[in-house]
Amino acid sequence: MIYGWLFLLGLTVGSFLNVVIFRLRFGDSPFRGRSYCDHCHKKIPWYDNIPLLSFVLLGGKCRNCQKKISAAYPAIEFLVGLEFVWVYWLLTTNFNFFGQVEGFYSLGLLAYWLILFSGLIAMAVYDLKYMIIPDEILWPVTLVAFLRLFFSHQWQVVPAGLVSSAFLGALYLITRGRGMGLGDVKLAFLMGLVLGWPLVALAYFVAFLTGAAAGVILIITGKKKLKSKIAFGPFLILGTIIAKLWGLNIIKWYIGFL
Ligand SMILES: [Zn+2]
Repeated sequence: MIYGWLFLLGLTVGSFLNVVIFRLRFGDSPFRGRSYCDHCHKKIPWYDNIPLLSFVLLGGKCRNCQKKISAAYPAIEFLVGLEFVWVYWLLTTNFNFFGQVEGFYSLGLLAYWLILFSGLIAMAVYDLKYMIIPDEILWPVTLVAFLRLFFSHQWQVVPAGLVSSAFLGALYLITRGRGMGLGDVKLAFLMGLVLGWPLVALAYFVAFLTGAAAGVILIITGKKKLKSKIAFGPFLILGTIIAKLWGLNIIKWYIGFL
């Protein structure tokens, strides 16, 4: 039952994130009025604006102009919906989370995880689509990650964030912005804040490995040319999520091999 509600809540949050990031893209205020179609700019009535369901019922097309609606919208809604269920499941079962911390504080921590993962997912989808990481999501999430330190007192993650940012900043300068963007350098600070040392190094390892693998696959299948750009943000985010969830287990497993 609670999973059903969390899924619906996640869909709603995903829908809100869509409005925020895609409207900011076009320089509009995200809080003004209702959604409208990207093509014909006709306002979308509430019955065509139900997360996920409307996209399926309309066959992915605008009711007015019949042009395609970007699949990024339902993708973000669905992923955030799934994430809400999954994070709750993870915290209650794997981490025995609510058994360890209590009351209001545990709700705060749940909110922190949900904000963090929702923001990361939205940034990854946005970067895939537009090759840019929106500050409008990155800075609030970074602020939340920083504020959390006042409760966790793990201040050692701040230098980890600075080193992480300096590392990607150096790569940015060396590759003259061809390998990655300034958004990735800013994202690197958040990665350090969220993960700390040594998990942030693991995140980079996963990011470079999966990024290289995806690049090779895209070139072999002819989807991309050798010189064409591939957004690096989604791989950094994938690395961050994997390191956050399974990082300590992966490092233990790896040391067991040595
Ligand atoms: Zn339209």
